[in-house]
Amino acid sequence: MSTPTDTSAPASNFIRNQIDADLACGKHTRIVTRFPPEPNGYLHFGHTKSICLNFGLAESYGGDCHLRFDDTNPEKEAQEYVDAIIGAVRWLGFQWSGEIRYASDYFEEMFECACALIRAGKAYVDSQSADEIRARRGTLTQPGEDSPFRSRSAEENMDLFLRMKAGEFAEGTHVLRAKIDMQSPNLNLRDPVIYRIRHVAHHRTGDAWCIYPLYTFAHPIEDAIERVTHSICTLEFEDQRPFYDWLLDALAEAGRFARPLPQQIEFARLNLYQTVLSKRKLIRLVSEGHVNGWDDPRLPTISGARRRGFSAGGFRLFAERAGVAKADSWIDMDVLEQAMRDDLNEHAPRRIAVLDPLLLKITNFPAGETHTCHAPNHPQHPEAGTREVPFSGELWIEREDFMEVPSKGFRRLYPGNRVRLRYGYVVECTGCEKDADGNVTAVLCEYFPDSQSGTPGADNYKVKGNLHWLSVAHAREAEVRLYGRLFVTAQPGARREDDPPELERDFIDDLNPDSLTVLHAQVEPALAEDAPGQTFQFERHGYFIADSGDSRPDALVFNRAVTLKSGIR
Ligand code: ATP
Ligand code: MG
Repeated sequence: MSTPTDTSAPASNFIRNQIDADLACGKHTRIVTRFPPEPNGYLHFGHTKSICLNFGLAESYGGDCHLRFDDTNPEKEAQEYVDAIIGAVRWLGFQWSGEIRYASDYFEEMFECACALIRAGKAYVDSQSADEIRARRGTLTQPGEDSPFRSRSAEENMDLFLRMKAGEFAEGTHVLRAKIDMQSPNLNLRDPVIYRIRHVAHHRTGDAWCIYPLYTFAHPIEDAIERVTHSICTLEFEDQRPFYDWLLDALAEAGRFARPLPQQIEFARLNLYQTVLSKRKLIRLVSEGHVNGWDDPRLPTISGARRRGFSAGGFRLFAERAGVAKADSWIDMDVLEQAMRDDLNEHAPRRIAVLDPLLLKITNFPAGETHTCHAPNHPQHPEAGTREVPFSGELWIEREDFMEVPSKGFRRLYPGNRVRLRYGYVVECTGCEKDADGNVTAVLCEYFPDSQSGTPGADNYKVKGNLHWLSVAHAREAEVRLYGRLFVTAQPGARREDDPPELERDFIDDLNPDSLTVLHAQVEPALAEDAPGQTFQFERHGYFIADSGDSRPDALVFNRAVTLKSGIR
């Protein structure tokens, strides 16, 4: 059976071309990639792109992909995030090679690397304040100025660095800097700071260290230690690549790493309209209570997506369709939702729900009787079998499926018209009941006993409408949550054309006040027993999942993942 998630021949792109060339010329015989999240927040849709890319490349080239926590910053990181990230990678269907790795496991080796640079005259302890360092850094148009401490001897630097490590100094009194070029047109090469003093405990190494490496120093070393061949990152690191190369080259010269060294390759990050893909912004949405926690189904987090009923296959399909590019671009949320739809259509079992129930009475149906109808679990997959759906004289139908006075082209229920109650019988509408205000309270019909779907002669009835329904006595009440876009604007927080120059927009102001609609629906009884965590197609309505937080067997709650056709606003 072919599924939309099949990837027989992955589309070529500039990263694959680079790998092909490196394998062809013998630079590498096996590729190693890595996914290196910082455990300082929950993963978002942007990360799924990086995960699918890195793990996907390793899969398709028969190489390795490491899961490495980039936990060199002691302040913002927590075990809670580590656990959630591991769960998210697994859920997307990927398995890392070997053990999970932690950058903090390499602190000793990073320290040794720093010492090697000092000995080689390629790093020095700077005792200027942070402000002084900043003031001498120069600008894009002005070269920087050498620190007065730049010419310290290797011995003096080593002595000071060891004392920094021993905890003799207060935070901010000294830093270790790479000694490169204060005149470089690339600001990242103007003697970047590589170690600083932080008297704080780390979530894994505790109080073992009071000096911590900076990300730009730590990351290339982590890659080199793990013999990563292709270190794939987003475009904002392009200007860092010269330092990445300088550092690993200097360490190879010092005998710490063998060549070939890892190669940094940048690609365009995923940007999606009408949402925000930045941990900093997501943290605000959660902490200020604009959404209900990290797994709110409206959030573009993986935990939100799971709770919403999005599928791992849908994310993989989306990553493939979005492709890998060298230039930034923005993608419509519809593209992501279409990928979910295509994947879910293939895999989601069918169920019936009436979202806006209206009573239908079959006046000639034997009182108190129940007939059993059979509904296929998946129309394209007969092997998925059928399930029993009870039929009785009182049914729920959708309010919008009845019109007392039909508009032009309306083919569903109106007095005198016949429709098929799908998997059940053909009925003819004979009228309706109304309350004192004229609201329709029940639709009246007569059924044709020889019209049951699947029985001989059922086809003799030709009808244009085909409605879903539920037996009132058997249906279960359920709360149903429909989600709209989280933001009303394409790029939340972006300036608008007619904004006065002094106006600063906050992305919070662009939140969609109608992003959640709650309905009181009726669902088929099988859903009370169905496995939690399964996304279903509710016929004619879209894809839904039982809410993992709030749904209980005696109080069902369903979230809509996506509609059947595009059009969510
Ligand atoms: P944020 O900007 O949301 O804080 P981050 O880049 O700081 O994200 P990390 O945990 O450092 O988050 O990222 C782990 C990996 O995921 C990195 O390799 C990063 O490049 C990648 N990544 C993060 N956001 C995106 C995105 N929008 N598109 C593609 N890859 C991304
Ligand atoms: Mg980051």
